[in-house]
Amino acid sequence: CGIAGIAGIHDIRQALTTALERLEYRGYDSAGMAIHSAGGIDVRKSVGSVATLAATLPPEPVPGSGIAHTRWATHGAPSTRNAHPHLSYDASIAIVHNGTIRNIAELRGELDDLGVSAVSDTDSEVLAHLVAWHRGQGADTETALRLALARVDGDYAVLVIAADRPGTLVAAADGSPLLIGVDGRAVHIASDRAALASECTHYSHVLDGEVVTITTAVPAGRDWKPASRESGWQGKGSYP
Ligand code: GLU
Repeated sequence: CGIAGIAGIHDIRQALTTALERLEYRGYDSAGMAIHSAGGIDVRKSVGSVATLAATLPPEPVPGSGIAHTRWATHGAPSTRNAHPHLSYDASIAIVHNGTIRNIAELRGELDDLGVSAVSDTDSEVLAHLVAWHRGQGADTETALRLALARVDGDYAVLVIAADRPGTLVAAADGSPLLIGVDGRAVHIASDRAALASECTHYSHVLDGEVVTITTAVPAGRDWKPASRESGWQGKGSYP
């Protein structure tokens, strides 16, 4: 299983498909992708291979930001409905999640009280609704994700895109790996360095408990490491 996201590339659909192909070796039962479109967030999912998913994608290049997922089901059977990304009740945001949420019954109960019911059997979907609900109360996406994650007992690497912010994605991790990579054109993020574009020159770990907003600009103040394959991505140094 794995997740990948990219901000600011000329063909997000192709770049995310490549990232998912690079995550295939980890094993998965279904795959999905969320990209911006004129009508909002376009979510495509399928059971089975990344190639099956790729066949459902729009034929024309789509610029912007997007998120993608290969799922290894922990809560809910492998199915298109349970595949990620998950859209919020108001379709304002989409999320992908690696990991497990232990207090899922409690969080579903809280959402029921707000009049929001889940459409999938996954633990992950509650995160989408919680983030959307906090945004609806006036929080920006990063704050909304922080507030939602503060309620979660579990492990996660999570990526969020919002319909009203086409060039941006928000990421967070705790107990699951997540890395940011830069290649001079776009900013990539993935659960596994194998999924970062081979062109990435530098990478940086998202720390446990950190919430990061990813745009086309290289995030400042991070501990960047050179990503040369010769050094096995183990090199020391800082982003030039
Ligand atoms: N727990 C989530 C699910 O079952 C995510 C699984 C994963 O990490 O792929 O949908």
